[in-house]
Amino acid sequence: MEPHIALPDAVQNIISELNSHGHEAYAVGGCVRDCILGRTPEDWDITTSALPDEVKAVFPVTIDTGLKHGTVTVRLNKQNYEVTTYRIDGVYEDGRHPKEVTFSRSLSEDLKRRDFTINAMAYNEKDGLIDLFEGQEDLRRGIIRCVGDPDERFSEDALRMLRAVRFSAQLGFSIEEATMEAIRRKVAGISRISAERIRVELTKLLLSDRPETLDTAYRLGLTAVFLPEWDEMAACNQATPHHIGTVAEHTLFVMKNTEPDIILRLSALLHDVAKPLTKRTDAKGRDHFAGHPVLGAEMSKKILRRLTFDNATIDKVDVLVRYHDERPEPAMRAVRRLSARVGEANMPALFKLKRADIAGQSDYERDRKLERIEATEKCFDKIMADKDCLSVKNLAIGGSDVIACGIEAGPLVGKVLDSLLKEVIDDPTMNKREVLLLRVKEVGAKAARFMAVFAAVILLSPLISACGETENAPILSSNRTPSKPYTPPAPEESEQTYDENSLDGLFVVEIVDSAEETMVLRNLVNLRQLRYRYDLTTSFLNTKGSTTSVTRFVPGRVVEIETSEDGNRLKSVSLSDRVWVQDEVDDYVIDAEADTISVGSSVYRITGITEFFSNDIQAFITDIGENDTLLITGLDKNVLTVSVTGGHGYISLINTALFEDSLICIGEKDYELITGDMLLEVPEGTYDVTVANKGYGGTKQVTVGRNETITLDLNELKGAGPKTCSLTFNSTVEDASIYIDGEEVPTGTTLEVEYGRHTLTVTANGYDTWKRTLFVNSESAEITLDPTSSSGSNSAGSDNSATDSSSDGATAAGGTSADDVNKQAQEIINNATSGTTSSSSDTSDTELDYLTTISDMLTTLMGD
Ligand code: ATP
Ligand code: MG
Repeated sequence: MEPHIALPDAVQNIISELNSHGHEAYAVGGCVRDCILGRTPEDWDITTSALPDEVKAVFPVTIDTGLKHGTVTVRLNKQNYEVTTYRIDGVYEDGRHPKEVTFSRSLSEDLKRRDFTINAMAYNEKDGLIDLFEGQEDLRRGIIRCVGDPDERFSEDALRMLRAVRFSAQLGFSIEEATMEAIRRKVAGISRISAERIRVELTKLLLSDRPETLDTAYRLGLTAVFLPEWDEMAACNQATPHHIGTVAEHTLFVMKNTEPDIILRLSALLHDVAKPLTKRTDAKGRDHFAGHPVLGAEMSKKILRRLTFDNATIDKVDVLVRYHDERPEPAMRAVRRLSARVGEANMPALFKLKRADIAGQSDYERDRKLERIEATEKCFDKIMADKDCLSVKNLAIGGSDVIACGIEAGPLVGKVLDSLLKEVIDDPTMNKREVLLLRVKEVGAKAARFMAVFAAVILLSPLISACGETENAPILSSNRTPSKPYTPPAPEESEQTYDENSLDGLFVVEIVDSAEETMVLRNLVNLRQLRYRYDLTTSFLNTKGSTTSVTRFVPGRVVEIETSEDGNRLKSVSLSDRVWVQDEVDDYVIDAEADTISVGSSVYRITGITEFFSNDIQAFITDIGENDTLLITGLDKNVLTVSVTGGHGYISLINTALFEDSLICIGEKDYELITGDMLLEVPEGTYDVTVANKGYGGTKQVTVGRNETITLDLNELKGAGPKTCSLTFNSTVEDASIYIDGEEVPTGTTLEVEYGRHTLTVTANGYDTWKRTLFVNSESAEITLDPTSSSGSNSAGSDNSATDSSSDGATAAGGTSADDVNKQAQEIINNATSGTTSSSSDTSDTELDYLTTISDMLTTLMGD
């Protein structure tokens, strides 16, 4: 039966106008299809025999949308209508663009180039429906079928394959067999399609009534090309009571159970994307996916960037994926904390995602899970109703108030506000101006002390490792029994895998998120994954209980912890001395069949809880290659963790003359005095290498591969000179005098200092004179001189004493006697606070301080 389509007045007018000027015109494509189906068209497209210039001559207001492709936008009653000249698309040279477009005077030519029969119908009042390919019949049958030969059509434009799936999702149609077969054959062509075009179709698919149709894209092999992560999810079974089926099957349910909102649907799509990468099966055969939300958030960002989604979308999805598994106590304080981290605006979506997630799980404990969400949601509603403060901008005081209280302008102000916010989140009644102003002084003083302690610790950490700890000793040393090398018993000796209590209190570091200042740890007894916050007050301790650098707490390390009373924050993290560690292991054999790792002549057992890490993310045993360097942690004969720490390569420096006796900075961690043409061993990786001397210098990025030697010609880094750095000194000591190369410089003002090596001297009444070598190699830097607190001297001093060979009052801290502590307390330690500083200093020419390290680490760790 000939359908009647009620064209909107504007469309009717455009067609009539074109007709009255002697041109043919029809509504065409999606709008005709949707009208016949009784759906509301997204937009109305008009096809015409008129050439673009002829169309433009007919209407008063037009926009040249795509003249080359024959499209003119006609503006009528504040609405846009696309009017496109009949055209024949030439050969698609790269599966993307027709090489050339030929305008035609024949409607049938135009309909022939369209993708599917249901999209290839035209309509106007005069001629009724023009349906040359049985489109109406296919609509009735619910079938998506190519116009013409499907193989040819998909070769011309590979995107049509994804469009077929998208229309199937929107309309609930099936894809006709021959069309489907052709997709299977032509699927690889999708890789030539731009990410933007894929994003448009994927978005429509996800927002359709049947987002689960993504499964069709998977079965046809399409996701393997544009979303290979999905195929991993489809191959990932989950043996847990919470789930039935694969990660992908679960995800299809979750998507289906969210409303058609792109943030929600994308978050649903990606919430478990990291499960395949984090899956571990325990001794009982149960699967665990520790760390999948955080890793998933990182992966989501990459995937969505790759698919050219906008930043706002990427950020929101990141948050929802990151926190989708968070289960706070349904109590006001816990929910306030979570809301502050998630952002209150994201909370309603998070609740929706969590509900959908549960709906997509097995019945196991479903009611309890839902009850908990409901209770959590009630807390959140009350937080909103009470207008509780959840962010710094809603605090009753601001940065200027903090400064008015005597806190020096700079990063400390933010730190003070942050810690006030934490208190206010825990106790909203504190958010009053008077209360907070009172707190500023206390908190401010505390924060200043933390900064000093922290700077001192970082300052000394290179020295600590330089003096060599058991852990860096050769293979088979162990920090469990440092006195003699520890050889674990052979696996055959005992049936039992672990002693009853041997794992008590041990945690594996799984993720360290320095931006978020969180650490994800896995409890080795119950295998539960826990997330903790850490901050400047957290102590990072080595096996002997001495302060060490946070950078050593990489994924795979086994630690013992002490938490704050509320259980959320880490008070201390210590490398455990109950486990053995073998670092820099190159000589090993992994037998995945027998589940063993042999190192030298010792054989260790890989158990159900052994975890593997590569590049700081969880990995599989199969990810470990023959030539990797490993850090292995174990207990008795069992291996707890294996981390690929990578291989090493070399940088060979040539033409060093200009920079001799100056400092070379390699990335953030390695520094060396240049002594002539030299060979530096560095872990494989990409580094910014910086040199500077006598007003010359620069930075170059180099990539060093495993066992590879790259040559770096320092003449290339010379640059035009003389270069200078805008350097600002701040000092909290009133009468301190600062000298560079013997010349006094003012504090608080910016001075230009030439690149290279300088002597920095500070004198102040009642203080010992303090002298450092300052390396200047960045465009700008800020150095704050802070009197160290007594606690600062203490913690730094105890570690430093062993290595401090030049303890003449010039080092940051030294002795440990009470007298010394007091004296040292008056000393000045440096504390660089600029994000871009690359200057470095060394003490009395014998020891190096690393201002670069300090500033970079401070900013990283403080989340700048
Ligand atoms: P929507 O409801 O999403 O707008 P639509 O069918 O209108 O669906 P559009 O992408 O707006 O889809 O395209 C309009 C019309 O142009 C289609 O109906 C089809 O006739 C034709 N078309 C679009 N893209 C292609 C393509 N890649 N190959 C062939 N024809 C196409
Ligand atoms: Mg359309």
